Amino acid sequence: MVNICNRCIMDETAINFFLDELGHCNYCNDFFKKNKESSNQKFNSESDLQKIIQYIKKSNNKYDCVVGISGGVDSSWVLVNAVKLGLKPLAVHMDNGWNSELAQNNIENLVKNLKVDLYTYVIDWNEYREMMNAFFKSNVIDIELLYDNAMYAVNYQIAKKFKCKFILIGHNKSTEGMDIPKDWNWFKYDKKQIYDIVKKNSNIKIKSFPSLGVFDYLRFRFLHKIKQISFLDYFNFNKDNALNELEKNYGYKRYPYKHYESIFTRFYQGYLLIKKFNVDKRKLHLSSLICTNQLTRSEALHKLNKTKYGYENESDLNNDIEYFLKKMNWSHSKLDEYLNRDRVSHKDYKSDTYLYDYLTYLYKLIKRQK
Ligand SMILES: [Zn+2]
Repeated sequence: MVNICNRCIMDETAINFFLDELGHCNYCNDFFKKNKESSNQKFNSESDLQKIIQYIKKSNNKYDCVVGISGGVDSSWVLVNAVKLGLKPLAVHMDNGWNSELAQNNIENLVKNLKVDLYTYVIDWNEYREMMNAFFKSNVIDIELLYDNAMYAVNYQIAKKFKCKFILIGHNKSTEGMDIPKDWNWFKYDKKQIYDIVKKNSNIKIKSFPSLGVFDYLRFRFLHKIKQISFLDYFNFNKDNALNELEKNYGYKRYPYKHYESIFTRFYQGYLLIKKFNVDKRKLHLSSLICTNQLTRSEALHKLNKTKYGYENESDLNNDIEYFLKKMNWSHSKLDEYLNRDRVSHKDYKSDTYLYDYLTYLYKLIKRQK
């Protein structure tokens, strides 16, 4: 029997998981503690939002902000609200070759209906596939580090190119507010790690992959003064309401689970993570929804226990397995062999996370002294 929280649905498959005397886990306890702290700081979403909007609108450029879109509900909702509030966004999408057709249609419908320009960065597939193969070979957990890092890099590069000082992103407290267990992913600005994993597990030289390291980030943030804003935190973001409006007005079609806009993300979260790493991210996403009163605990448990993997039915899973094998040029036995190998820690590779943590610590120290 696995120990599970009686308020959210996190359980002991998460590292450092423990229950208090009420049966509440540290993950939801931390979530409520953080939320209380931010409301104690008299965070006033409405007036803060107006201030930010006025600030962004000061720009005389063709675009006053960049909105990174994936085709998922969060980033789509950012774009809708940016336009509603009179901003002039440039939508930026990074295509790594794994977009689902649904996501592609959602993006196209959205920018057409909102009359927003779309910049799509298409990544070199052959290079990207070899980088993915290197990550598989390394047996680290965060394969999506590749996509996420490249996406941040492209957002910053495009913001700089079009002289935008703001990047609006879909990350938000309402549906992603719960801290991810420390061993479920890796630091996303870690160019150093990407290069080290690829160097040690493949023969390719990285040529065109857009990547972001700690110093790149510092350059964009402090030299070019480009700021990333979690835009949805300024709204009373309710996922269901957002989805309903997106469907009604923007030809949007919903996905069965969060982050299923990319076929690889769907396969990675719905199968590889669960099977190889015993990590089921649905627990985290559904728990965030419970804590923000968007879902009851029994509804969440029902959703989770309906299927072993993150697929509504087995034929969908089998289709994705075949799709994955064909696209990666893998055999079934190669996949089985990968799934059976032991996990290797990201800490076994070079990393900038120590540098970043140190710089963040210094920054906070200096800020406090001021
Ligand atoms: Zn909990």
